[in-house]
Amino acid sequence: MAGINEETKKNLVAAALIAMERAYFPYSKFPVGAALLTEDGSIITGGNVENASYGGTICAERSAIVRAIAEGHRKFKGIVVATNSLKPASPCGICRQFLFEFGDFPVILISGKSDEVTTTSVKDLLPGGFGPQSLADFAAEGNV
Ligand SMILES: [Zn+2]
Repeated sequence: MAGINEETKKNLVAAALIAMERAYFPYSKFPVGAALLTEDGSIITGGNVENASYGGTICAERSAIVRAIAEGHRKFKGIVVATNSLKPASPCGICRQFLFEFGDFPVILISGKSDEVTTTSVKDLLPGGFGPQSLADFAAEGNV
């Protein structure tokens, strides 16, 4: 993870794995944990929280972002997402959009089963995404 030292990376991975164990996933049986590194160096975790209505389910990545925002964080340096599948799982479309709102930073995907790691970034996951700059550009055109 660019700009993040190995010790912090290890801490993020460990935190993501713990968050994965704490996730609530009675329906999919697919646990996911996320550990978000904030600008000030804090680590904020989240797990997927499923719901009997299914539509009320929230993914680990969004869970971590929501928690971070509630705790006063707005800028992020990276996120580790852990699953228990053999291959690291990639964030869903909604999570890609959710992450895009907060800029471009490394996204590290890890398998808690095989230790396989995939490193990518928010912008690589959502090229051409619609975000805050899109609205700022619209306003700059005199539309708002
Ligand atoms: Zn998701």
